[in-house]
Amino acid sequence: MTVRFMITAVMGVLLLGWVIFCGVQFIFQDRRRIAGADFIGQAKCEKCGTEYTVSPQEFNKGVMTKTRSLTKTQVYRGAFVDTPHYAYYAKKFYCPCCKKREYAQVLNINEINEDMRQQRYEELKERYFQEDTE
Ligand SMILES: [Zn+2]
Repeated sequence: MTVRFMITAVMGVLLLGWVIFCGVQFIFQDRRRIAGADFIGQAKCEKCGTEYTVSPQEFNKGVMTKTRSLTKTQVYRGAFVDTPHYAYYAKKFYCPCCKKREYAQVLNINEINEDMRQQRYEELKERYFQEDTE
């Protein structure tokens, strides 16, 4: 009885650990993807109006974002997909003019978003639809 209970407990802990591990992987996947991407963000400081560029690494820093998004349905490669379209996207970046972190509107957020989606699509295609060459 005790042995059976212990096996069940160990299995339960292992399963729970696996679920947490997967969840964490899921969260960090997006961050890694952004960090590995190469794009230039066009940011405009909301305080002083200075326009400057931000690197993908800068995008990973901090969680303070302000967004307004509209979802629009697009036909993408023969399928209807709902794509988030940002009407407004601002994040705290280091402003070279104010010399501190201030909210800046990302002017080309939809371009970046499009690139990210394209990259994700290519990844999925590679993972699931790759032809067996062996
Ligand atoms: Zn500024």
